[in-house]
Amino acid sequence: MHMAGRRCTALPATRNRDGKMNTWFRPNIYAMHGYTPGEQPAGQDIVKLNTNENPYPPSTAVTEALAKLNAGRLNRYPDPLANPVRDVIAQVFGVERDWVLAGKGSDDVLTIVTRAFVDQGGCLATPDPSYSLYPVLAEIQGTRVVTVPLDRDFSLPPDAARRAGNASLFFIARPNAPTGNAFALETMHKVCHEFPGIVVIDEAYADFAADNCLDFVRKYPNVIVSRTLSKGYSLASIRLGFAIGQPNLISGLMKVKDSYNVNYLTQIAAAAAIADQDYLRATVARVKATRERVAEELAGLGFKVCPSQANFLWVKPPKLPAPAYFQGLRQHHVIVRYFKGPRTHEYIRITVGTDEEMDRFLAATRQILG
Ligand SMILES: *Cc1c(COP(=O)(O)O)cnc(C)c1O
Repeated sequence: MHMAGRRCTALPATRNRDGKMNTWFRPNIYAMHGYTPGEQPAGQDIVKLNTNENPYPPSTAVTEALAKLNAGRLNRYPDPLANPVRDVIAQVFGVERDWVLAGKGSDDVLTIVTRAFVDQGGCLATPDPSYSLYPVLAEIQGTRVVTVPLDRDFSLPPDAARRAGNASLFFIARPNAPTGNAFALETMHKVCHEFPGIVVIDEAYADFAADNCLDFVRKYPNVIVSRTLSKGYSLASIRLGFAIGQPNLISGLMKVKDSYNVNYLTQIAAAAAIADQDYLRATVARVKATRERVAEELAGLGFKVCPSQANFLWVKPPKLPAPAYFQGLRQHHVIVRYFKGPRTHEYIRITVGTDEEMDRFLAATRQILG
């Protein structure tokens, strides 16, 4: 429940659409719709370009680590802080262990920060359009949302901190989803400096970007950067995300998380994957090369292509409306993502798959455009 142009919107009503009073659920839960995940189609011959997974398999270091694991150990709870994973992250990213929080996917990290930093009846801020989970987290928590409209080219306005009003938490995805662009570093510095609350920079796609905001955590005591293994590392299934921030923030978040939020199997796979940075660089390079090729071909076909720093393209088709193009692709067994809404309805989000998948996607596109 959020509206552009209002500083803070009212909490959801306590009555449902039939006018009946909610008696069991908290009013905000009763009123909300819940997050809509991208579909995971079962069919065989489908080109699945709808949820931004990496099309390549994870590092063989993951396969080897899982093959060696001791299933007899599964009777015990896992390390509650996921320290083996935190230590690898600390080493790779050049921080100490106490700067790192591990979560069950970065969605878990986003849930933890919402619970930790926003009171019920408080307010969180997010640009629009951005990751559609942020307003859902606000609804669950019973907090209001203030949306900061992106400029026409989907850039973050330099006065975003002021527009975020009195929110206590500001979610900024960089690169942004679903638009794929990375907001100017200069603007990010300005926002983090000016915003009095916590800024969470959601870097789910940073592995595919030219730069990132990791060094902000040293400079700004109010900044948390979140990362995930779901995109760059080809491990959406294992559910591992992490946050990096100053130790006093991390230790506070530790109080809020579920005690054993990262399971043992995931800890083993994640530590192996993060340690293999060479493999990450190699698959990311392939995805980026494919991204640039497809972006060029689509531009040649008359598409408006938003410059992408992520593993997906945000495009506006020529000749026909986005929903018709979306349906046309479906008929060719190519699944992409369409987002209703005033700022997004003219666009389609296309995950970058393998070269072979993208050739099938391009062939379907040419047929649809005639
Ligand atoms: C995919 C995505 C996430 C979620 O990542 P998980 O680690 O799989 O939970 C977070 N933020 C953005 C912007 C995403 O696109």
